[in-house]
Amino acid sequence: MQRDIQKIISQMTVEEKASLCSGLDFWHTKGIERLRIPSIMVTDGPHGLRKQEGDADHLGLFGSVPATCFPSAVGMASSWNRELIQKVGVALGEECQAENVAILLGPGVNIKRSPLCGRNFEYFSEDPYLSSEMAANHIKGVQSQGVGTSLKHFAANNQEHRRMTVDAIVDERTLREIYLASFEGAVKQSQPWTVMSAYNKVNGEYASENEYLLNDILKEEWGFEGFVVSDWFAVDERADGLAAGLELEMPSSYGVGDEKIVEAVKNGKLSEEKLDRAVERLLRIIFMAVDNRKENAVYDKDAHHQLAKEIARESMVLLKNEDCILPLKKEGTVAVIGEFATTPRYQGGGSSHIKPTKLENILEEIKITAGSNATVLYAQGYHLTSDVVDQSLMDEAKKVAAQSDTVILFVGLPDSYESEGYDREHLCIPENHRLLIEEVAEVNSNIVVVLSNGSPIEMPWIDKVKGLLEGYLGGQALGGAIADLLFGDANPSGKLAETFPKFLSDNPSYLNFPGEGDKVEYREGLFVGYRYYDTKNIEPLFPFGYGLSYTSFEYSNLSISKKEMQDTETVIVSVNVKNTGAVAGKEIVQLYVKDVASSVIRPEKELKGFEKVELQPGEEKTVTSTLDKRAFAFYSVELKDWHVETGEFEILIGKSSQDIVLKDNILVQSTAPVKKLVHRNTTVGDLFTDPILAPLAKELLAKAKENNLLANENQEDGEASEMMAAMLRDMPLRTMVSFSKGDFTEEMLTQIIQLLNEHHEKEYQPLK
Ligand code: BGC
Repeated sequence: MQRDIQKIISQMTVEEKASLCSGLDFWHTKGIERLRIPSIMVTDGPHGLRKQEGDADHLGLFGSVPATCFPSAVGMASSWNRELIQKVGVALGEECQAENVAILLGPGVNIKRSPLCGRNFEYFSEDPYLSSEMAANHIKGVQSQGVGTSLKHFAANNQEHRRMTVDAIVDERTLREIYLASFEGAVKQSQPWTVMSAYNKVNGEYASENEYLLNDILKEEWGFEGFVVSDWFAVDERADGLAAGLELEMPSSYGVGDEKIVEAVKNGKLSEEKLDRAVERLLRIIFMAVDNRKENAVYDKDAHHQLAKEIARESMVLLKNEDCILPLKKEGTVAVIGEFATTPRYQGGGSSHIKPTKLENILEEIKITAGSNATVLYAQGYHLTSDVVDQSLMDEAKKVAAQSDTVILFVGLPDSYESEGYDREHLCIPENHRLLIEEVAEVNSNIVVVLSNGSPIEMPWIDKVKGLLEGYLGGQALGGAIADLLFGDANPSGKLAETFPKFLSDNPSYLNFPGEGDKVEYREGLFVGYRYYDTKNIEPLFPFGYGLSYTSFEYSNLSISKKEMQDTETVIVSVNVKNTGAVAGKEIVQLYVKDVASSVIRPEKELKGFEKVELQPGEEKTVTSTLDKRAFAFYSVELKDWHVETGEFEILIGKSSQDIVLKDNILVQSTAPVKKLVHRNTTVGDLFTDPILAPLAKELLAKAKENNLLANENQEDGEASEMMAAMLRDMPLRTMVSFSKGDFTEEMLTQIIQLLNEHHEKEYQPLK
């Protein structure tokens, strides 16, 4: 329906405008009847719908209507499957339509800075590219159904500890390349209807009052067209937030925020035009929701459950398969041990916690899949509500294990170990889970561990087990998915979207997490996740991008469409992948880029492309990725822009970040109008390596020497002249004055600097 939003705004009083900028209650925006502005419902998110009809809360305490529970983001990201995530998005959108929810609060793209963050299960990855690709496809799916999303939590919300007051101190380059890049790709690709500002401060200012983030970057630079909503109760000073670009305060502040806005307009602190612009953004989305509303929509619960199973299968990662213990044979005696098998942990705690439409029991699914030729025994092993060993459960588990050919051990992190609201303090599983592995290993050496957890754990027991399946938090259909993978009805195809360190202390943020009081400094800078482990050569337990399959893949024929390109062009990289095993499978082909030489500090390599490809036994396919400037660029703080330095780059094709199977080089030429200014503190070395300035600089230096203005270094003595040259290289121009004992004057220096700058300006030609 066509509406004249400007006309509607012109009919509104300041009070009415302000009233639209905060919620009606916990989950609704306000409407204005006389202007036919409706109220819409927003609700969590992200991996299912948490629509509360009774008491409301933002911590997942009160109930909600049943909805399909898909795997948590950590699992979805491990599928690296763009199409499948989009399908999940479509299903979520359908459920929102059926429940009359206009905006689903998610996805969350905060970077996993530390494995300790209590909310890591709700985020995709430690890598911004993978994270933004997953988010973009989630958003595309949901929004294709005429339902909005809320990309959250913008920005640098990487811990739960003091999340409402902590100030994340992040240098500009790291912020851009790691923490914002995760949002940037998703905003640019899929235009979420809303973005949710984070609780915390970023570099001194609350994210919800941060004009640099909300206005300059998100809206001006990235072209975000929707509105910004606060995280629940995140608003500090409402008028400052509005001025900075926070359009909607949630939940309702029952008039307090609105009054502050009105007062700020009346006393001139906030311009009415700014308020109008906020209302315009709000109305555009509110009307979009109304126009896309599908009355009487229903969804197919069974089909969505099947989809939950499909993505759960791809979300799980096979981490170890010694002696090809997996897939299991559907015969003999199998012991299933661990309470998780009957009380599955399938989602995380907090605002994303939903009520599933149904929930599979893992033990039952294993029995069905194993079939009638196999005997499946069960022992509880431990209590999920306690870390203490129950000796009778332990004895029973050992007895069952001793009678069986194979043991499937379910261990991991119980609910209380990780949740929204607090961070972990260690990476250990409960003591009774660890001891269960140790003791069962004494009576049976054929152990397969299945993990239920939302983020990495340490595994001092890894040598005691032959098989290891990272099940993550697999959603409501996890039981069937696990059974299919264990018995080979499905072939594992997930790969880690995060590094598993051997020890917590190996993690780059270890010394600065969760910070001091209300301040956390991201001192590891760009070196997050594999960017650190690979650059520092620290062997992780399992690297980023790692995951096994029941088949094998061979890579060949890496080809780059050009050997040389300008940074305004794109290049196509292709590689052949062949299934060389006996069963069908899917492989995730990863493309990393390495800057061979750079004047700025860069990680060893960075993920810039990936494709998931399905192959029948013997089948071969060509996989392609297109790279543009961003694949080679770093964020230049000086230029305030993305910049590529002319030079060689390596294109690396890997099965994981540490298993690079093919590589080739490309020369990328910068076309950026870099205008270097020469000044008193420009070093002689910098002058001599600048292609434009070097000839003139050498000429001027020679002249100065000719005129005896500068001392001639002793040409005879090789060592001394080498030392002299090295010293000269790092000397700022100003030292020539004192070096010449006054013969070379300050005026001469000023003249030379001017000459060099004029010369640069004249000669500089950006590449076409
Ligand atoms: C969470 C958000 C969530 C909101 C509403 C907050 O506690 O940080 O992710 O969308 O509550 O439940």
